[in-house]
Amino acid sequence: MLPPSLDDMVSATHPVRIISKVIDDLDIDALLVKYKGGGCASYHPRMLLKVLIYAYTSNIYSSRKMEEACQQNIHFLWLTGQQMPDHNTINRFRSERLKHVLRHVFTQVVHMLAAEGILSLKEVYVDGTKIESAANRYTFVWGNAIKTNKEKMAAQLRELWQYARSIAKEEMNDTDPGDFPTVSPEKIRETVEKIDAALRDHPEASKKVKAKLAYAKKNWPDALERYAAQEKILGRRNSYSKTDPDATFMRMKEDHMKNGQLKPGYNIQVSASKQCIVSYSIHPNPTDTTTLIPHLKQYEEDHGSLPETVTADAGYGSEQNYEHLEQTGVAAYVKYGYFDKDQSEAECRKRPFTQDKLHYNKEKDQYICPMGQPMDNVGSNTKKTEAGFTQQLTRYQARNCEGCPMRGACHQSKGNRTIEVNHNLNRHKQRAREALTSEVGTVHRKRRPVEVEPIFGNIKENHRFRRFMLRGREKVEIEFGLLAIAQNLRKKAA
Ligand code: SF4
Repeated sequence: MLPPSLDDMVSATHPVRIISKVIDDLDIDALLVKYKGGGCASYHPRMLLKVLIYAYTSNIYSSRKMEEACQQNIHFLWLTGQQMPDHNTINRFRSERLKHVLRHVFTQVVHMLAAEGILSLKEVYVDGTKIESAANRYTFVWGNAIKTNKEKMAAQLRELWQYARSIAKEEMNDTDPGDFPTVSPEKIRETVEKIDAALRDHPEASKKVKAKLAYAKKNWPDALERYAAQEKILGRRNSYSKTDPDATFMRMKEDHMKNGQLKPGYNIQVSASKQCIVSYSIHPNPTDTTTLIPHLKQYEEDHGSLPETVTADAGYGSEQNYEHLEQTGVAAYVKYGYFDKDQSEAECRKRPFTQDKLHYNKEKDQYICPMGQPMDNVGSNTKKTEAGFTQQLTRYQARNCEGCPMRGACHQSKGNRTIEVNHNLNRHKQRAREALTSEVGTVHRKRRPVEVEPIFGNIKENHRFRRFMLRGREKVEIEFGLLAIAQNLRKKAA
């Protein structure tokens, strides 16, 4: 005679029960203080958090689909106690209320799983993936285009200046306009006006030049101001999307058009353990190399200390990263570029003359070339990487390559062979080689593809999350946080 109970319709082992229990045990005070009180009664934030996390676990990412699920799906109805938040409420909660709060929720889940032995905070595997932004794919700003346009304007201004000087020398007895691309829009305006005043009533001034000047006067100062604002947004990037300025254009693995088209996206870095996400960070760089240090800083912020070991692929094997890991006392199992080739004798035989095959005599600070000739230290220099890291390079030169029968195979330069050696990087490579080929290192190397890579496959392929729903780095961070909690709770429920 009574209506059926929803509780009877949700099996005792269903993931929705696990998720509900986990969220019930979390401290959400940071979220509660965001609610001022007063006004209409709002939905309880714990219930909305459950809805979002369960939705991300069940491949539902759109707020409208979540609204629909809250009205129709038994598991959602059970979770919400038959409350039915609409998509605006869900969206506002996701993009506004969870700001600066979700990471705390995520770390609590991670610590809970660590306490249950489901994951480890000591040994982590780092890798990254790119996920497309919600931004429009075809509205972009390119750093190189700005540079080219400024160079073109500089060349045209110089031409105009020279033309004006050639026919109105007296009026133009001022100095050169200077390095045009670096001067302010005011200076450009002033220079253009000066040329304009000199040529305006001049009988010899051509109409074409006057038209060019009018165009420059009208458009250039604004264009320069726009370029300055765009360069500020670009920072060290080469591109950004106009509809999501935090997103950078990058090459994605998912290329539905099969034309290598760059798409606006984010580089997501993940520390993983047993296919659970232990920490995550969002980066604008398309390559992984420069993301490791900020990622580990985020890890430290999340968990209060660094992991004991970090295992990563060759994309992270830079001198700066090795140096950082050494200084922070983290045991690194990180490959460098040629590590795999170095392990194969056949591959080594293909490159018998490369620098790493030359013998180094440390006492005499000399390399010995393949013909047994000493290569002397002829100086050193420093180089700054794009990330601002200073490298110390030492040059060694063979004494006489003339008439050497190996010359064609050994090197192509005109004079004697010169090599540039980064001793510190070589030292790190040697350490990495020893660590990676040790018994423990071999285990870590074998586990890396199993521990971290399936996470991306699972999120992108099995759970069809290929593109963020929200725009802007802060919101993307919330969305990935929800995905990370969902991934971890799926592992718990499995
Ligand atoms: S070409 Fe010069 S560096 Fe190379 S093996 Fe001959 S002598 Fe040595």
